[in-house]
Amino acid sequence: MIAGGGFGGFYAARTLERVLPHHSAHVTLVSDVNFLLFTPLLPGAAAGTLEPRHVVVPLREELPGTDLWLGRVAGAEPQRGELIVDSLDGRRHELRYDQLIVALGSISRTQPIAGLVEHAIGFKTLADAIALRNRAISMLEIAETIHDAETRAEYLTFAFVGDLYPRCKVQGMRWVLLEARERVMPEVAPSLAAFAVRELRGRGIEIHTGVTIDRVEDRSLSLSDGRVIPARTVVWTAGVRAHPVLARCGLPLAEGGRVEVDRTMRVTGHANVWAIGDAAAVPDPARKGSMSPPTAQHAIRQGRRVARNVAAELGAGGRVRTFKYRTLGVFVDLGRHQAVASTLGIRWRGFPAWFLARTYHMANMPGTKRKLRLLVDWTVALLFSRDTAELGQLGNPSRLE
Ligand SMILES: Cc1cc2nc3c(=O)[nH]c(=O)nc-3n(C[C@H](O)[C@H](O)[C@H](O)COP(=O)(O)OP(=O)(O)OC[C@H]3O[C@@H](n4cnc5c(N)ncnc54)[C@H](O)[C@@H]3O)c2cc1C
Repeated sequence: MIAGGGFGGFYAARTLERVLPHHSAHVTLVSDVNFLLFTPLLPGAAAGTLEPRHVVVPLREELPGTDLWLGRVAGAEPQRGELIVDSLDGRRHELRYDQLIVALGSISRTQPIAGLVEHAIGFKTLADAIALRNRAISMLEIAETIHDAETRAEYLTFAFVGDLYPRCKVQGMRWVLLEARERVMPEVAPSLAAFAVRELRGRGIEIHTGVTIDRVEDRSLSLSDGRVIPARTVVWTAGVRAHPVLARCGLPLAEGGRVEVDRTMRVTGHANVWAIGDAAAVPDPARKGSMSPPTAQHAIRQGRRVARNVAAELGAGGRVRTFKYRTLGVFVDLGRHQAVASTLGIRWRGFPAWFLARTYHMANMPGTKRKLRLLVDWTVALLFSRDTAELGQLGNPSRLE
């Protein structure tokens, strides 16, 4: 049984389908959504260059040999070998397992900042990305109806592409990037981060480092240096933290709330339970004494390895091995055909980095059909401007009168 159908869970299921002999085992994947969200492409969905459906991979389509069980994991009873799951209609189930792989991911890490939870939007799920896009467009539509420049500024404090909003163009839009550390993008070399900052500032994006947020209100946010920025849209992307459901799974937790595992990803004290990805404190083979960073790169490799380890436990060949992986590289897509990248010690910037990032993400998208859809979306985006339809009413049909 696999809990969670994200990068880790998906690749674990896919590898089990390949390495286990036919009909030798029953693989069940429990997930609260029936797709894998390809997070590196989420900004494309928010920006409108990619169709929302094209940044996800339908699990049923890509995992034909796995039994998909749609529901929300509420906890586990490892002593009894049971996973507790609430199905979509609210019924509670105790699902029996022989081997369990926990791959439940993480959630946005918030901080105790006044007004943050009430007023800011996250950027972790497909719903977050589409809500942000719809919000950006509706803010522009509202700003178009306001004559008072000061009030309009609150609506325009973030950027949006296009010349279709004449009044907004007159007053100008404002994107502000706030970073608590002294520099942005600590995961890339300082020279690449400096290139990215120059590129974004060149587009009129303000970047303020060494500053934190004291308070968020519906019409403004207050910074630690005393400044108040009038803004109605605040997007919170300050990292992730362990999924709270892990604390209800009866498993030992490491510092930070991730499940404690050894180098083979087996949970401490539980011979038949494994944990991977953002949900697990897997020792990082590249940095002694640290745990693996919460990245898709690591979750994918851990998923593949843990599947082979489970297959070995079930007697399907091979042996239980430790997780070995060194980060291949980092890509930061800056949009508008610009990116920075660092791969195997080589630094890339500008158009070559952007091309490399796109090629890499497309190569990693599972399934030929999905790859083609990306290619079509990207080609259309090259030829035409983005559309400005605000589709927030989707999913909220009006009631019959
Ligand atoms: C915007 C964004 C961009 C990113 N870009 C990159 C990148 O470019 N490169 C990179 O390497 N990493 C990137 N990451 C990080 C990467 O997405 C994560 O590290 C990776 O998804 C972790 O894989 P996982 O399997 O542990 O968790 P996830 O992929 O998050 O999967 C967890 C799964 O469990 C499901 N789930 C959660 N709770 C429950 C529950 N209670 N019951 C049932 N199912 C549940 C979720 O719906 C999800 O399908 C990005 C993350 C974000 C948010």
